[in-house]
Amino acid sequence: MHNPWLYAQTMVRFTVLASGSKGNSTVVSGGQTRILVDCGLSCKELFRRMRLTGEEPETLDAIIITHEHSDHVNGISVTARKLGIPVYFTESTHRAWMRWLTPRRQMTYAQWLEQCRKQTAERQAEAEQAATEADVEEADVIPETVTDAEAPPQAAASPAKDPTSLPVVEYFKAGEPFAIGDIAISPFTIPHDAADPVGFVFQAEGVRMGFATDLGYVSPNVRAQLQGMDLLLLESNHDLEMLRDGPYPWSVKQRVLSRVGHLSNEAAAGFLEDGYDGQAAYVILAHLSESNNLPELARVAAERALSGRASLLANRLLLADQNEPLSSIYF
Ligand SMILES: [Zn+2]
Ligand SMILES: [Zn+2]
Repeated sequence: MHNPWLYAQTMVRFTVLASGSKGNSTVVSGGQTRILVDCGLSCKELFRRMRLTGEEPETLDAIIITHEHSDHVNGISVTARKLGIPVYFTESTHRAWMRWLTPRRQMTYAQWLEQCRKQTAERQAEAEQAATEADVEEADVIPETVTDAEAPPQAAASPAKDPTSLPVVEYFKAGEPFAIGDIAISPFTIPHDAADPVGFVFQAEGVRMGFATDLGYVSPNVRAQLQGMDLLLLESNHDLEMLRDGPYPWSVKQRVLSRVGHLSNEAAAGFLEDGYDGQAAYVILAHLSESNNLPELARVAAERALSGRASLLANRLLLADQNEPLSSIYF
């Protein structure tokens, strides 16, 4: 007889919680392991969306980050600290993230010593206060950020404590596969205007899931990585005409359009038509611009590219959304 508990334990599940320039987060689960890919929502909103989709935040094992743009990292400190879980970065991405959160100041050695003394005193006072206070909700830290060309500016807030402190930091390198629990991960370099941006192929229970957003074009290496997928999540950021005629300043348009910017509907469709093997059960279009795209335009371009290959068994086309999570995909 089929054991539903055993079944639940071995299920592969893929849940896009948010996708777009205001925040990105996806949960990949396989076997006993659950990974959060990017943490661009506030901790509170992340937990709300996870519960909406039937995912339990408390069961997350790790957070893995594609790159340091604010729409991918805004909630990491609070979320990682609250759950006490490790965050995986490339070393360059971690450094870029720390630089971004640490105000740059020139100071003398005497000033530096004085600062250390103050920080120690503050930490002590904080620890004493924490001991007497009840469990207070931590506010999300959203400082002045390195944004995606696409992302709207964020309001500055003063961090209550060191915003770069994380329970555990783990490094990985593009091109060097590794594992977190039951999930095998192959990170690969993507062309984007960040320190060391990556896409991923996740493999769990023999199910292969490709993940590529925030890339200026589909490089030969990206193309090679995204073959033999059971699920493909691919950026379809903007419609070229809408971007050209749209509200962005010229410099931002140039950045989005560049080889290290974002993938247009036309470029995503070009890959689906010529570069992709048509094997995936699901194709998810992601990181759609709210200013320079319409879901219907992205859908039509991809449908045309997949012409005839879409069916109930292969190439089911889904669109990830900024404001609502997608229903979980199960394998
Ligand atoms: Zn982004
Ligand atoms: Zn980005």
